[in-house]
Amino acid sequence: TRSKLPDVGTTIFTVIGQLSAEHNAINLSQGAPNFPCDPQLVAGVTRAMQENHNQYAPMTGLRSLKERIAQKIADLYHTHYDIDSEVLITASASQGLYSAISGLVHPGDEVIYFEPSFDSYAPIVRLQGATPIAIKLTVPDFAVNWNEVQAAITPRTRMIIVNTPHNPSGQVFSRADLDHLAALTRNTDIVILSDEVYEHVVFDGEPHHGMATHPQLAERSVIVSSFGKTYHVTGWRVGYCVAPAELMDEICKVHQFLMFSADTPMQYAFAEQMRDPQGWLMLSSFYQRKRDLLQTLLADSPFRLLPSAGSFFLLADYSAFSDESDSEMVKRLITEYGVATIPLSAFYTDGTDNKLIRLSFAKDEATLRAGAQALCRVK
Ligand code: GLN
Repeated sequence: TRSKLPDVGTTIFTVIGQLSAEHNAINLSQGAPNFPCDPQLVAGVTRAMQENHNQYAPMTGLRSLKERIAQKIADLYHTHYDIDSEVLITASASQGLYSAISGLVHPGDEVIYFEPSFDSYAPIVRLQGATPIAIKLTVPDFAVNWNEVQAAITPRTRMIIVNTPHNPSGQVFSRADLDHLAALTRNTDIVILSDEVYEHVVFDGEPHHGMATHPQLAERSVIVSSFGKTYHVTGWRVGYCVAPAELMDEICKVHQFLMFSADTPMQYAFAEQMRDPQGWLMLSSFYQRKRDLLQTLLADSPFRLLPSAGSFFLLADYSAFSDESDSEMVKRLITEYGVATIPLSAFYTDGTDNKLIRLSFAKDEATLRAGAQALCRVK
């Protein structure tokens, strides 16, 4: 058949997940917790099912859940979203990204994004008949060079996709980054699509500099977030996005035909769970302990760790002891040492190899200890 994405294979997360399972490896690859969620949340879903909330939810989501989301954003970031026209519950953050790009990007448009990047952005843009324009983040600090962004903007630029905290590098935007982005997009009709699924996982007491914290950016931004990352339930596939009504209208036109609505019992359970702000307020310290533990355990390993300021991830540099490609390194780590990670080259469309691998520390302590022990033996 005539492929629409001839150069795209199976996503790296599936490929490594399978290889990892075949070799019974300790899995530090996918950004998915291996520990249980709050039993209250499971009880909430069960209760919703027993109370027969088993039919379609409203197209844009359960009102009580949208209220909680709007309230949280107002409390944390001081931006107000209208519950009826500016909040959408999606079947995963991935679906939110897809619906936003599909609803807003026209054939022939250009969409700027930054590499290394989560692997779905560019293919979704291409499926719209639009052109993804990759700008490389600087290595090794993975910062945006805003001069390069300015140079890349053309009359065809429709969207800029940003992601903070950043998967896979663990870097975060500063207030200065937001100001640069605002200055570059002022008086244009460029839309910002902001992937903020790790918004509650920012370390060392720093605030999250998301688009909703910056009124000028909020005006032109679609912000995508995830319940899976916040409540340790990545398999439930529920996320949400917020955007000014004019943008949200177009996103909903796609959402209604792609999903119609997200899972009803889960929405009831999240609405209940969101009554307690500790659910997100404790997340930074919870994951910071895991980051710190993995850093400590790997201090004497042959890998040199790059700093991580947020997300579930940190990058490890092996250039001091090997010049094999990152894919070869990852394969060898799985087959010879029984530990699975992700090669950074998978996050570049041109396969750039910086001799870096991504480690996920969204794992229980025993897994982090076993994984680190294996990595310490590597030669
Ligand atoms: N976001 C997760 C990661 O980067 C997994 C996403 C996926 O498997 N599609 O590991």
